[in-house]
Amino acid sequence: MAVYDGYEAVIGLEVHAQLQTASKIFCACRVEYGEPPNVLTCPTCLGLPGALPVLNKKAVDYALRLIMAVGGAVNKRSVFARKNYFYPDLPKGYQISQYERPLGQGGAVEFDLPGGGRGRCGINRVHLEEDAGKSLHPDGGEKYTRIDLNRCGAALVEIVTEPEIASPEEAYGYLQSLKLILQYLRICSGDMEKGHLRCDANVSVRPAGQTAFGTRTEVKNMNSFKAVQRALRFEIQRQIRLLRSGGKVSQATLLWDEKQEVAVEMRGKEESEDYRYFPEPDLVSLNVTDDWINHIRDRLPELPDARTRRLVRQYQIRDYDASVLCADCGLADYFEQVMKTYDDAQVAANWIQTEVLALIGETGVRIGDFCVRPAMLAELLGMVSSGEISGRIGKTVLAEMHRTGRTASAIIKDKGLALISDPARLSQVIDDVLRTHTDSVAAYRGGKLELFGFFVGQVMKATRGQADPVVVNDLLKQKLET
Ligand SMILES: [Zn+2]
Repeated sequence: MAVYDGYEAVIGLEVHAQLQTASKIFCACRVEYGEPPNVLTCPTCLGLPGALPVLNKKAVDYALRLIMAVGGAVNKRSVFARKNYFYPDLPKGYQISQYERPLGQGGAVEFDLPGGGRGRCGINRVHLEEDAGKSLHPDGGEKYTRIDLNRCGAALVEIVTEPEIASPEEAYGYLQSLKLILQYLRICSGDMEKGHLRCDANVSVRPAGQTAFGTRTEVKNMNSFKAVQRALRFEIQRQIRLLRSGGKVSQATLLWDEKQEVAVEMRGKEESEDYRYFPEPDLVSLNVTDDWINHIRDRLPELPDARTRRLVRQYQIRDYDASVLCADCGLADYFEQVMKTYDDAQVAANWIQTEVLALIGETGVRIGDFCVRPAMLAELLGMVSSGEISGRIGKTVLAEMHRTGRTASAIIKDKGLALISDPARLSQVIDDVLRTHTDSVAAYRGGKLELFGFFVGQVMKATRGQADPVVVNDLLKQKLET
């Protein structure tokens, strides 16, 4: 447990993940990001009187996948409940959620600990609910807040942990791991910037060793995992300072202000009774049969840890490389696609981790949208392996492929980049180099053998890196030693 000057922190996280269903949870409206405001709406998600919700089965399938992936238990009968609160972007005045009987309970998520090793955090519950819309507060001095209800009614799962996280760094590790699981299950993009993944944190501190919990606060409005980490650090320190100076922590909801790096009190924290939960009268209870559970269990996708182990086994690559590749489901997919038409796994893994990641990092595209498709990289790597081009030229060709979307062979042919192995042609180049550096040649012959590399460099420069290094070495030795 991380100890802060005699105090320890107790953190619980509530993550809302938007499920990638084609339609919303209780109506047939499409779920899309970036559409004009309020076009993806209907009487049900607008909360018009008389409109009735119909549960989207896919949303249940997805939530079941998650519950099973974390080893939780499925409640065969769960109940939707109304959570009553007024918010401008929630036109019904209540949110349909699950309260007393959530769909899933228990299970755990494992994650990497900051100092090495693995941590584990228990899951308290996983339940389904609908999303609210969005309030837009334009900066331009506008008098109004605009409401966009496109997101209203999108399917969410809420994943609530046990209060078992001891530090902001552990919270970060947990979130990374959970996001990866959601991505591997192909149920949520995990994109925090688009709001597809949102995290609220409950934080309290207590004297180290005390078993009773301190008073907790809830921190909201963190837009990245790093922001969660910073907000938790801030709040833990604030509570410790308060207790030290003889004050008391009061239960409250705080909003994290990323620019100022402070958490500001928004309101006294609601208790569950403030929401006046009651069973949703327009929906029957959700009954999940054994067949349904088995159907989902039999089709559970491979999870990140299992995939990492498999890549090491199947392709004989290093553990570290496998874990880098598997830290992004798309990257691991990319690697496996390359390996369909290329055979040196370690070379492919190296290129993907260095060259490919650098290129997509520069432009901010996702690996899935990277214009150099796996088969194209496989072709390029094949040409490097066979000695048709040098590794160095290969890197320039890859950059050109990324810029133009063309294939390696087209670029190499067009630009005449193939490796020069013809001894007659290289012999001429070498003669020119030796003629222009007579002093160095004399020095080399006088015993300064380390100048050999210099000559190789000059030949490479003269051939724009296209000279076959093996032939160059042989010829240079011959010519310098005669
Ligand atoms: Zn709708």
